[in-house]
Amino acid sequence: MQQITVLGSTGSIGVSTLDVLARHPDRYAVFALTANSQVALMLKQCLNTQPRFAVMRDSNAAEQLSVQLQAAGSDTQVLAGETGLIEVAAHAQVDVVMAAIVGSAGLDPTLAAVRKGKKVLLANKESLVMAGHLFMQAVAESGSTLLPIDSEHNAIFQCLPERYQSIEASGIRRILLTGSGGPFRQTPVAELAAVTPDQACAHPNWSMGRKISVDSATMLNKGLEFIEACWLFGATPDQIEVVVHPQSVIHSMVEYADGSVLAQMGNPDMRTPIAHALAWPQRIDSGVASLDFMTTSRLDFEAPNFERFPGLRLSIEAARAGGSRAAQLNAANEEAVQAFLHNKLSFTGIAEVIEGVLEKTANHPVDTLSRIKESDAEARRIAHEIMAGRGLAH
Ligand code: NAD
Ligand code: MG
Repeated sequence: MQQITVLGSTGSIGVSTLDVLARHPDRYAVFALTANSQVALMLKQCLNTQPRFAVMRDSNAAEQLSVQLQAAGSDTQVLAGETGLIEVAAHAQVDVVMAAIVGSAGLDPTLAAVRKGKKVLLANKESLVMAGHLFMQAVAESGSTLLPIDSEHNAIFQCLPERYQSIEASGIRRILLTGSGGPFRQTPVAELAAVTPDQACAHPNWSMGRKISVDSATMLNKGLEFIEACWLFGATPDQIEVVVHPQSVIHSMVEYADGSVLAQMGNPDMRTPIAHALAWPQRIDSGVASLDFMTTSRLDFEAPNFERFPGLRLSIEAARAGGSRAAQLNAANEEAVQAFLHNKLSFTGIAEVIEGVLEKTANHPVDTLSRIKESDAEARRIAHEIMAGRGLAH
């Protein structure tokens, strides 16, 4: 029986993970669940799965949850704050950690699981974008098994040879990272400044949390995934190509030296990569319906438009520049997306803020976690300065 900690259990990925786990009570037991502040859903999840621990990042929420669990006769123990998150990620009795906290808040708990050599299912792409070098070093040192949950990276992983070592040794010509282009793929560029958070979050193919939904609409998500792919597969930016594929049926591809292209396909449902990574190298039922080729009449492809999606261009440039660029881009994006979701910044302002932050900061060395966090904090501070109107003028 595998003991699982789900970091971010109340989110979109967390809920899908619990759905897959519930289909296999003979294989998996929930050891711990964590969330930021959503008490009602966490209570329900705890009563359904009876974990040993439940962690709330917010201490008031932890207190409320504790009272309600006791009233319900549950013996789940409630922990609070980041120390609680780290404790359940690194606990000696845990075999598998699903890292599905959104944003930079996921870095420390995910890294704690990696350092203890856990099997880590990585949804939290931001931690790899921020600290890719240290993260992959920690994976190598601890012998942790890192499996990608992001559907594109999971697809690429599935198209790689079993004992993958490097792009070159495997005879790989290119990695083709596909993306739908989001809800604004065909919206006139002049209209993008006026789109609302709800329009940006209405993704044509995937149902996701609000932050990643906005990232998909700006294609900054594809940019973060570009950086993520470089780290996960040891690829250089020149070895990865972004392909817009509006139907989201192909989840990414690998092209080999002989001209063969392997693609992974399926319905756009995150339970497929979750079930794949949970059971790997075996296969288990995920609850996802079969792909119906008779109704999937066509597969379209186009090149990404960098004028429409400047955030994608900035991300690829950050991947090429290395150092602290990706961490700064990620931090500026997180602040700008929050401002956009609170109607304090226009949609097109998101990429403007990111570009402004990258212009106003230097590329710092990222040899320690504290240096990375300094770069992250500096980028957030400058993003707020820009958004306060002190610097967007030129
Ligand atoms: P979400 O917003 O739906 O859920 C986020 C989860 O993290 C929630 O449980 C929330 O309580 C918790 N959380 C938020 N802020 C926190 C904080 N400061 N401290 C501790 N916990 C906190 O997000 P999501 O869509 O499930 O995405 C989660 C991660 O997975 C993201 O990194 C995203 O990029 C990645 N991802 C998501 C999808 C998808 O389909 N949703 C696909 C690929 C990758
Ligand atoms: Mg993805």
